[in-house]
Parts: sequence; C-alpha cells; structure tokens
Amino acid sequence: MGKREFFYYKNTALELVKSRISYFNVFYNLKINKISVKNQKTRWGSCSKKGNLNFNYRVALLPPHLADYVIVHELCHLGEFNHSVNFWKLLSKTIPDYKKIKSQFKKIRIR
Ligand SMILES: [Zn+2]
Repeated sequence: MGKREFFYYKNTALELVKSRISYFNVFYNLKINKISVKNQKTRWGSCSKKGNLNFNYRVALLPPHLADYVIVHELCHLGEFNHSVNFWKLLSKTIPDYKKIKSQFKKIRIR
C-alpha cells in the first residue's frame, strides 16, 4: 500500500471510529482521552490506562458489524481494564452476539 492510500484509509478509519464511539458512548458514557489510528501489524486495537484508544487503520476495511465490535471492545476497556466477566457483560449490552463475532474474527487475518 502506498503512502497516499494509507493516508486515505487512516483518515477514513479515524472518522469511522470517532463517529461510532460517539454513538456507543451515549450508552456507556466513559471518559476518553485520545483516539488515534495507526498501522499496527498484529492488533485491531488497544487501550491505555490513560484513556487513549488506538485502532488499526484496517478497521475501515472490515464489514460494519466487525468494525463495531473492535470499537466497542476497546471502548469497554475504559470501563473494565481486563477481560473479566464484567468486561464481557459490559460489551454484550451493545453487542449481544459478540461470541459469534469473536469466532468470525478467528477466520480473519491482519495483513
Ligand atoms: Zn481486549
């Protein structure tokens, strides 16, 4: 992928992530510090304890329900900084079929 193409997807992803986060955060009302989009090789997203959310620009290339899963997953880490039962409960409030979606992710590779 060339520089211009990457720049395009990066901005598309950032717009998508920001708009989906404002949508879901009406429900969660969590405190977000900064949202960034990066070229990550192995992860779809990550979250820091400072409230910074990072996303792979490739979320822009995912089907909408899978992109939403990645976005809500990182957002919920601002409420539960782990993968505890409570974390999955929080996530299931807006993505009730998350188990099905998780299994779909196993078939997708980041490349
Ligand atoms: Zn996680």
